[in-house]
Amino acid sequence: MIKGALRLLKTAEKWFLPSVVVAFVLLCMCSQSQAAGRVSGLRIGQGISSVRIVFDADSEFDYNVFLLDSPKRLVVDTKNVYVGKALEKTKDSNNLISRVRVGDIHDSKTRVVFDLLKPVVVKKVFMLPPQSTFKWRLAIDVTVASEREFRQKAGIDNAYGNKSLSTGENWQPSSENGSSSKAAAKTNAKKIIVIDAGHGGHDPGAIGYSGVHEKNITLAMAKELKRQLDRKGKYKVYLTRSTDVFIPLRKRVDIARKYKADLFMSVHADSALNRSATGLSVYTLSETASDKEAAALAERENKADVISGLNLYEQSKEVSDVLISLAQRETRNRSSEFAKCLVDEMRKSVKLINDTHRFAGFAVLKAPDIPSVLLEMGYLSNKYEERKLRQESYRRKLASSAVKAIDRYFEDMKHKSLF
Ligand SMILES: [Zn+2]
Repeated sequence: MIKGALRLLKTAEKWFLPSVVVAFVLLCMCSQSQAAGRVSGLRIGQGISSVRIVFDADSEFDYNVFLLDSPKRLVVDTKNVYVGKALEKTKDSNNLISRVRVGDIHDSKTRVVFDLLKPVVVKKVFMLPPQSTFKWRLAIDVTVASEREFRQKAGIDNAYGNKSLSTGENWQPSSENGSSSKAAAKTNAKKIIVIDAGHGGHDPGAIGYSGVHEKNITLAMAKELKRQLDRKGKYKVYLTRSTDVFIPLRKRVDIARKYKADLFMSVHADSALNRSATGLSVYTLSETASDKEAAALAERENKADVISGLNLYEQSKEVSDVLISLAQRETRNRSSEFAKCLVDEMRKSVKLINDTHRFAGFAVLKAPDIPSVLLEMGYLSNKYEERKLRQESYRRKLASSAVKAIDRYFEDMKHKSLF
């Protein structure tokens, strides 16, 4: 069965290559009238640890994606959709694809060939339904691989397809595209934000100048943030806690992951021996804390788990598996993007500490796939800052700046993201 398909494919390839122009003319003459929709664009960009190729289209269409060797190519066969030659102008800045070629096979099938500069493997192929300004999208994630891996995966018997788009033979659709519906559901939904009120229960957090507990200030702030975000109508907001309970740090990360959060924000208020210390700061994760102060703070904030008898370090080792190395670089970039937005907006209304955006090893920031920041709203050890943080009006002002930052972050991401 496979051999027959290969033979047919070779024949198709043979006449397809020299007759691209003829194919185009034919395509214009017949395919357009038959096709249900058209592919309006092709984008190639950097995804999470992979290169993502996206076809934009008016309608859903059938596809089959596979690799071919000698020379190395990624082939995308499409059916019942018009694919124009304009796609050949698409440039790849990832140094992975040297050229894009478009040609007709027969019936209403079109073949798009990506000439590869490096061996790759296909990680995921999925179709996304229209969302906001985007139409239908076919996304193909590829990663650079070894020559051996490439050879193992090359051939149509390893094709990823949504329908049996064969030339008379059985092209087994990949079982892996089951993830498409999940991905589709996720992009269609409102952005999910998880707000984490630091500390709680037997862990009071920092004790303020007049004896106020950090855990109460953080809960009040988390609730205020949720209220303001809910009012926007475009977010789904969850709190890790809405009462005075203790939640281990790892559990907080698990909650964010369970909700499939697009953004995780942990709110805190600091304290210092130096009672004159004031100002707001924003932290994102670093593998090694950027300075002594940040490291000390990370230790203070992480202590909660040691108190409850949980071995934090063992727990976080579990997270720092291969997932981290794959996804965390991208997640860190996004966390930093958000931190930047947050600092910018906060600057407009409150006093910041120097080098406002800092890096520390907070356990709570270690979700490998969720952009996460930790906001230290100010110093409870300072008489005046504590007074402000206890005021609802002040927290409302802080929350309003955070909401502006969140709006901006998702707006920015929309333009940067390939989705
Ligand atoms: Zn804290």
